[in-house]
Amino acid sequence: MKIYNTITREKEEFVPLNSPHVLYYNCGPTVYDYFHIGNARNFVVADTIRRYLEYRGFKVRFIQNLTDIDDKIIKKAKEEGITAKEVAEKYTAVYFEQTGKLGIRTADMHPKATENIPQMHALIKTLIEKGHAYVVDGDVYFSVRSFPSYGSLSGKNIEDLQEGARVDVDERKKDPLDFALWKAAKPGEPAWESPWGPGRPGWHIECSAMSIAHLGESIDIHSGATDLIFPHHENERAQSEAATGKPFVKYWLHNGFLNINNQKMSKSLGNFFTINQVLERYDPLSVKFFLLSAHYRHPLDYTEENMATAQSASRRILNALETVDKLIKINAVQENSTGLSAPEFAREKWVNFRRVFEDAMDDDFNTAKALSVLHDIVSEIHETRKAVSNAPQDAALLDALKLYRNLLLELLGILGLDPTLASGKVDFNDKIIGELMQILIDIRKLARAKKDFIIADEIRNRLNNISITLEDHPQGTIWKHKK
Ligand SMILES: [Zn+2]
Repeated sequence: MKIYNTITREKEEFVPLNSPHVLYYNCGPTVYDYFHIGNARNFVVADTIRRYLEYRGFKVRFIQNLTDIDDKIIKKAKEEGITAKEVAEKYTAVYFEQTGKLGIRTADMHPKATENIPQMHALIKTLIEKGHAYVVDGDVYFSVRSFPSYGSLSGKNIEDLQEGARVDVDERKKDPLDFALWKAAKPGEPAWESPWGPGRPGWHIECSAMSIAHLGESIDIHSGATDLIFPHHENERAQSEAATGKPFVKYWLHNGFLNINNQKMSKSLGNFFTINQVLERYDPLSVKFFLLSAHYRHPLDYTEENMATAQSASRRILNALETVDKLIKINAVQENSTGLSAPEFAREKWVNFRRVFEDAMDDDFNTAKALSVLHDIVSEIHETRKAVSNAPQDAALLDALKLYRNLLLELLGILGLDPTLASGKVDFNDKIIGELMQILIDIRKLARAKKDFIIADEIRNRLNNISITLEDHPQGTIWKHKK
């Protein structure tokens, strides 16, 4: 298995520090608002990599932090007239609700910054003792010059960085590049006691302390979005290695940007979408298909067109799953009567699908290619369906169908896709929806009267797929949308 490592700028063979164990840290959300569709990409990518490593037999310990104290949280608290803690609690709940919709599994642990303050104090203390940090008026700064390989993760040269540093820099710092490990309390802001006076931690030290506390001094994978490479991950690496004297992370993984209509997403441009806005328009499965439709390191473009493609792709997979289920049902009677073995052709194809899928994922988690395997399987299912309808008694196909079904579900499972299609936000009391439903109910009634049960069942099943159930009563058919 090969993984692209940001720090070496190469695809490297994946060899965990202590195989089969994999220690994996993903930079989690700052809980001050709904996360945006770009953040969603980071969370989906990390979850998919974690699932695939598990599928490959690794025992993954996956940690994702919650940054629950930060300038943005404090600002939001002031705006909303509630405490920073209340803001963090509110948007932590939102985070789990929205990632749950996307089928993202919770991590083995979600440490909160505010619950790991003593660990941060210990790390800062070590850095001061070793001469890598200094105290100024209750602030503590990391001395960038004390860590010779600073800049090697981001590929930045320290002299260039210095040149670019702003002139109006805080003069109390020894070097303009030095960054805060601990910030002295300001009036009206949440603060914690510390050996340097009351204050709060800097963002970078939070991740270093939580990664070291919950995974150990050296870990296998640390991931996040590309914009975290500098300064966040550069600083994390400097602090951690300066304190422990050991390599902090073996493989650094960064996912590419998500653009909106080929433009950088930004609030000022008005092309900024939070996850709840996106999920109001598109079902979670389609959103997930979209997020995995490009290689994770490549840029991804959120457009109406790309979303429509993802939508039809996800529906195609769901319909294929349903077809397989139906065919298995039709042929199930035969199962016990014949001691059947899977046809060789199906086995071969199945093995081949799996191999292509694994090759794609082994090559730095190429989900774009892996998803195309799903489509090949769907085509194969349609071929099989034709074969089955030509010879409905051909029980030998049953095993083949089951193989396809398992592989489909397995692949979907690996990618964390929920095979039930959730509907977007639709007002089911809307008049036009009622009229459209009545048209479908009337057509189904006509089909049944003509004893065309294939059409009648198709209508019922397809509606079922989008969570609409039909109930037949003596006085007529009623429909219900189940949430
Ligand atoms: Zn982080």
